[in-house]
Amino acid sequence: KGIVAIVGRPNVGKSSLFNRVIREKKSIVEDIPGVTRDRIYGDAEWLTREFMVIDTGGITLKDQVFAKEVKIQAEIAMQEADVIVFVLNFKEGLTNEDKMVARILYKTHKPIILAVNKYDKKGSENDMFEFMSLGLGNPIMISSTHGIGIGDLLDGIVHQLPKYEVPAKNDIPKIAIIGKPNVGKSSLINSLVGEERMIVSDIAGTTLDSVDTPIQYNNKKYVLIDTAGIRKKGKIYEGIEKYSFLRSLGSINHADVVVLMVDGTQTITDQDTNIGGLAFEERKPIIIVVNKWDLVQNKEKAILQKEEEIRSYFKYLQYAKILFISAHDKTRIGKIYEAVDSINEALKKKIKTSVFNEILNRAQLLNPAPDHNGGRLKIYYGSQVEAYLPTFVMFVNNPSYVHFSYKRFLENQIRLQFGFEGVPITLLFRERK
Ligand code: GDP
Repeated sequence: KGIVAIVGRPNVGKSSLFNRVIREKKSIVEDIPGVTRDRIYGDAEWLTREFMVIDTGGITLKDQVFAKEVKIQAEIAMQEADVIVFVLNFKEGLTNEDKMVARILYKTHKPIILAVNKYDKKGSENDMFEFMSLGLGNPIMISSTHGIGIGDLLDGIVHQLPKYEVPAKNDIPKIAIIGKPNVGKSSLINSLVGEERMIVSDIAGTTLDSVDTPIQYNNKKYVLIDTAGIRKKGKIYEGIEKYSFLRSLGSINHADVVVLMVDGTQTITDQDTNIGGLAFEERKPIIIVVNKWDLVQNKEKAILQKEEEIRSYFKYLQYAKILFISAHDKTRIGKIYEAVDSINEALKKKIKTSVFNEILNRAQLLNPAPDHNGGRLKIYYGSQVEAYLPTFVMFVNNPSYVHFSYKRFLENQIRLQFGFEGVPITLLFRERK
């Protein structure tokens, strides 16, 4: 999709710009206890391009001096974003603080767009030169509150976003390993990559672009996303919860398969479910990996308990397979590859329409739809349509009769019958005239 980060010193109007460009989306998981909604990122759309926007002003730190805070915000933007919008304030002109932000941004190779906010249309061309002196290109004059120049800014953003690629189904799967700090992500990466090839680059102060690692297993190729970022320890922002959240957001965005890691020796926390919720909302195939299983006693009983706990905390991730591993002892690591392979196979599957309709009919006989919205759903027929994720269109008497729980029942039937484990399924309902 692409990620856009808004940076700038305080009071230039980052948040008002953020609010202007994101479109409010009703989150599916927000009603689930433990899943908090941060207004630090949002979805945006312009000229049919969708992207994600991060307001770095929302990443605040306790007891940090201003300079440090702005520096961290800018560095996070440089790491996580595809395009950076640097907001300045027309009314106040260029300040030393702006120049400080600019000095940090000079280190990135990523596209930067200057947005001069609080522009009142009374300014002349000359006023632009001051901002051009930053050497970061021509500014776009905007007013977030009055809606001036926003279209131009969005045009500029969309123009700089990476070209949209439909993921090729036979491509090498890109795997993101996500999870809260200390669950064992780096340890897993080390086990997967093999110690000898591990290069922990401590490149503080240089370009902090994320680095992926290609790997091979049983003669098959895979790519681990953002391995450098996960391994980079001891940075001040490691401990910032919102930051590890954003980090996951970036990785999820670029992944074909998400490995959600939890610590098997601890109970599930909000931080786990928040990160899992992100992967769910981004509609990614997911594998849940319970790590540190070497430390757990009475494993057989513990597995059942853990599975139950995970299923109840990650209600929306019922489709995900759960694996129990030890990254440390390298046990059952191969299962991760197997699960990735089977997800990859599932994504390629094309279900015959005749077979699909047999299953549909049987499902309806087994469990007829309940009355909903004044009528009972009748599915006449359906078929799989071309899409990256398995997507089925159903022709029905009235789409408004579809009850949420019935839709889920159908999804589960399809998943079970056709082996779509680990993969989100999309059902579309169309009225047949
Ligand atoms: P990350 O923050 O998610 O990357 O977590 P790390 O990989 O840095 O692991 C955090 C701590 O847990 C380290 O002390 C690891 O040695 C330890 N650890 C990671 N995986 C395992 C495991 O499978 N078993 C045990 N016993 N310890 C582990």
